[in-house]
Amino acid sequence: MIVLDLEWNRGYDTKPLNEILQIGAVRLDRLGGPVLSTFNAYIKPVVHKRFDPGARALPELKASKESSLDFAGALDAFRTWCGGDTAFAGWGGGDIESLNENCRYWGLPPVEAEEVFDFQRAFSHALGTDRQLALWWAAGYCGVPDVFDYHDALNDAMYTAVLSAWLTPEDLAWRPEPAPPKRRRPSPRLSKLPFPQQPRQKTGPFPTPEDALDAWENRRPCCPLCGRVGIVARWRPAAPGCGDRTRRYHAVFSCPEHGRFLCRMTLAQGADGQWQGRRYVPAATPEVVREYSAASEEDVYICKGQQKRRKRRSRRGSDPAS
Ligand SMILES: [Zn+2]
Repeated sequence: MIVLDLEWNRGYDTKPLNEILQIGAVRLDRLGGPVLSTFNAYIKPVVHKRFDPGARALPELKASKESSLDFAGALDAFRTWCGGDTAFAGWGGGDIESLNENCRYWGLPPVEAEEVFDFQRAFSHALGTDRQLALWWAAGYCGVPDVFDYHDALNDAMYTAVLSAWLTPEDLAWRPEPAPPKRRRPSPRLSKLPFPQQPRQKTGPFPTPEDALDAWENRRPCCPLCGRVGIVARWRPAAPGCGDRTRRYHAVFSCPEHGRFLCRMTLAQGADGQWQGRRYVPAATPEVVREYSAASEEDVYICKGQQKRRKRRSRRGSDPAS
């Protein structure tokens, strides 16, 4: 399998081409397997006079400008390197199409792709979200150290290949249902039952906010009506604005009898660097719900135990022998 990534420039003129500036690729023999070989080609841009903002921000744009390789030469080298392999993968599903768009522009035969795997879509499925996740976010989520610049095609292909260890064949085969016509932020569907004001419970100290989010005692709020213990699996950070040394998070948990409730945790960093604060179950006032809903899905913190459970499942799924 070839994991492919491209950098390109759309320019500002009417020539309808995302002109490829770099082809980066790595070869894997299986999901999560070792990288067998790598390919990298910087291509001298000749089509558009100006670079769009995305292209201007590329860390290796200079290497493309100074390259003596044209698209035909780079593609020829790429075909040779592929050696007849026709299974491709990428972060997003559009790279082969972009490559062949450039082939058509230059009157070259297309790259044959019998299978095209979209690791980005598969990763969303592995995490149980329908959001498109940025490569850097996914790498951070998996604890992959970000030692190489993103938006260099070879580096991005490498990150994409490393992330394949978190994917199962089932994730790869998954296709999303067509999106409903109107997309709205899902409401937390909280219980409408009134309840007495809840005590604020002290928590901490913790070395980092993440330690507080993962701490089991913080993840077990009680139903404000019957006291039954619920479980928090993920926290949403409140929009920043309360300063570097203060953090606020919300989570939803549920009681089988009384429905869903919010849990709020506020943390502050003391002079000793440690984080401590309070956790409580607030009434679901419109303001609190708005604050909960304002956090984007990408910012959501998934608690440690939850990650482990997913990873274990993925590993089992990717190994047919077990
Ligand atoms: Zn209850």
